[in-house]
Amino acid sequence: MSPTPATAESIAEGAALLKAGKLVSFPTETVYGLGGDATQGEAVARIFAAKGRPSFNPLIVHVADRTWVAGLAEPDGRFDKLARTLWPGPLTLVMRRRRDCPLSELVSAGLDSIAVRMPDHPVAQELLRAVKRPLAAPSANTSGTVSPTLAAHVKESLGTKVDLILDGGACRVGLESTVLDITQHTAVILRPGAVTAEEIAALIGPVKVSAEDPALPKSPGQLASHYAPSLPVRLNASDAQPGEAYLGFGGGAGMSLNLSAKADVIEAAANLFAMLRALDDTARFKGIAVAPIPAEGIGIAINDRLKRAAASRV
Ligand code: AMP
Ligand code: MG
Repeated sequence: MSPTPATAESIAEGAALLKAGKLVSFPTETVYGLGGDATQGEAVARIFAAKGRPSFNPLIVHVADRTWVAGLAEPDGRFDKLARTLWPGPLTLVMRRRRDCPLSELVSAGLDSIAVRMPDHPVAQELLRAVKRPLAAPSANTSGTVSPTLAAHVKESLGTKVDLILDGGACRVGLESTVLDITQHTAVILRPGAVTAEEIAALIGPVKVSAEDPALPKSPGQLASHYAPSLPVRLNASDAQPGEAYLGFGGGAGMSLNLSAKADVIEAAANLFAMLRALDDTARFKGIAVAPIPAEGIGIAINDRLKRAAASRV
């Protein structure tokens, strides 16, 4: 897949692909993103599969303007101050998810929060307005490689795994966004980036920096466990013991829920967090037994997540 110059026509094509659950790489002012419709679990699962990460970490959700946030998160006064001044721009805000948030749970990697930003790039903004849906978009590179600041970098890294690469030239900032957690009383910088602590503090008062204090929340990518079910989790189970819920995969009998009837790991990844939550019901079950999941492709990340869920209760 060679890059296509970003024009009104190619952006409209990109929007149609995204609505159909496909992946489109697009430029932002920070780096090129690998975009998928954040409301479609399978599109989000395809992003993880394309990047080849061996584990799930939550993704940044991109919006066309700050009014979109009200339908997704529970913003407070700090959000207004920050977004009015620093959006569009390289500042990602972590907020609590609304109960009725329409985004896939995989985008949050099962957390109760979402990370949102409005990119300062005309192509990204036009694409978002054309799709009319928030886009999950981590950097458009395979896991462990350098972030792409040119469309050619995306082609090198993900050329066969993306349905369209919109070329909008070189990224202006070339550095990732600052990630600021405003879910708690004290705002915490989870990841330093292009917007500085001083710029943030001038708007909302003192902020802390996660890396400087081991007691502060960490960026979820670095955590051993994101979301721990309260019930014990038993892995590689061929069926349920009495009292257990059974989370199946593919065929078989006695399932409480099935991650994927057609034994598709992408579909299973899209369902994983929502189904774990649905079965984590102490009034109904004593534990959750999970069928074996093939350790191929995104199945590796599913197994990693399940192993953490099982280990979190020892
Ligand atoms: P990337 O999209 O590759 O630039 O990385 C996303 C960054 O945002 C990572 O550092 C994540 O840990 C962080 N992030 C995304 N969603 C959340 C969230 N819900 N809570 C905290 N941090 C998040
Ligand atoms: Mg990255």
